[in-house]
Amino acid sequence: MKYISTRGKIAPIPFKETVLMGLAEDGGLILPERIPVIPRETLKTWAILSYPELAVEVFKLFADDIPASDWRRLVARAYATFRHPEVCPVVKKGPVYILELFHGPTLAFKDVALQLLGHLFEYLLLERKTKLNILGATSGDTGSAAIYGVRGRQNIKIFILFPHGRVSPVQALQMTTVPDENVFCLAIEGTFDDCQAIVKAIFGDLEFKRHYHLGAVNSINWARVLAQVVYYLWAYFRVRAETGAEEVRFAVPTGNFGDIFAGYLAKRMLGKGIERLVLATNENDILTRFVNRGDYSVGKVTPTISPSMDIQIASNFERYLYYLFHEDPVRVREAMERFAHTGRLIFAPEEIRRVQEDFLSLSVNQEETLATIAEFYQKTGYILDPHTAVGVRAGLNFLDERPMICLATAHPAKFPEAVKKALGKEPERPKPLQGLENLPRREVILLPEVEKVKAFLAEHALI
Ligand SMILES: *Cc1c(COP(=O)(O)O)cnc(C)c1O
Repeated sequence: MKYISTRGKIAPIPFKETVLMGLAEDGGLILPERIPVIPRETLKTWAILSYPELAVEVFKLFADDIPASDWRRLVARAYATFRHPEVCPVVKKGPVYILELFHGPTLAFKDVALQLLGHLFEYLLLERKTKLNILGATSGDTGSAAIYGVRGRQNIKIFILFPHGRVSPVQALQMTTVPDENVFCLAIEGTFDDCQAIVKAIFGDLEFKRHYHLGAVNSINWARVLAQVVYYLWAYFRVRAETGAEEVRFAVPTGNFGDIFAGYLAKRMLGKGIERLVLATNENDILTRFVNRGDYSVGKVTPTISPSMDIQIASNFERYLYYLFHEDPVRVREAMERFAHTGRLIFAPEEIRRVQEDFLSLSVNQEETLATIAEFYQKTGYILDPHTAVGVRAGLNFLDERPMICLATAHPAKFPEAVKKALGKEPERPKPLQGLENLPRREVILLPEVEKVKAFLAEHALI
């Protein structure tokens, strides 16, 4: 399998090349040359595999430049850190199925991809005899998942900037208590925007970037999307075996469109099986307006109780546009240029119709999210985190005779304040969050200045 760019201006590259690459060199996003449709006979054999076995089959298909025996080793290591033997178990709660994606080390779904990516990076760096210094800014979730993905990996260091005193206490503890020496938490005396601006400025200094082998781990990385395809297929097989249903729907709490795009790929790979994907947003509803009215126009970011979905420009959206535009990179390029200038894309009725064959969508506000946490708990005894609750609310809205599988993207104990607001009590802390307060904290406090961060990198980066 070779990979191309949504903007059509790179020569096809093998999978391995995509892993260390963020954006394609023409500014587009990486996609496979074609989406394989899995034959019925193969699906029968896949349906009874364990999670790691299924992951290996999917990866072999999309990444044939890594031998199967190596994939088995990488996958086994990546998912050994999950606390559940099924890795991503599916449980029936009330009228819906919940796909629990939060059994990884940081209790959020990003672990499913980032645990694998850490091992993939290490594997490729050893092969190429080179090093990598990961630089990123976080307001919470992604930072800790990235840190846990690469902690202790050889030839990698990670430097995560976050606003000092402005990330949630649980998330700050998760990041700063990691003891591995290749992890550096830089608490910046400023805002998240300051952190992002510093990272952007440093990546903009191409000579510095090359000299210090700087790289990113953002959600546009193709390997991250691919790792997420697996759990859609996995959950489909589980629910199909239990109910005999021919078709299911998935409800997906969405921010950057990465997770739900993986669902779109799984839908195409199955041919028939996933009827539609329910795209759930919070008050930041640009993607809901896109699905329901063909209006993709940027607004201001509204801070909510589901902060990992507080996004206006969805970084993976361009991948879907490529298919909506019948795989025409010229149209993608034009649209993205127009969007960069005007902050707005409008779609024709025929396009909206096709979008609505793939997606249903609902925007769920804070009041509805809290009410959903309360009602779901009352009826089932199960506590939803605020992101998952947005998805469940949308899932219930579009419930029909087909099984509805709702993605649980975070453990409720990561968002105790929101849960307390809804239920009057905090959720119990699972093991990985217990006693974090008593561990030594490793963080460096820096002024919000590009030169200060550069000096720190120069002193500590691998070269
Ligand atoms: C990142 C995140 C999301 C959004 O996922 P996207 O791939 O950005 O759409 C939803 N919920 C949680 C808990 C997350 O961390």
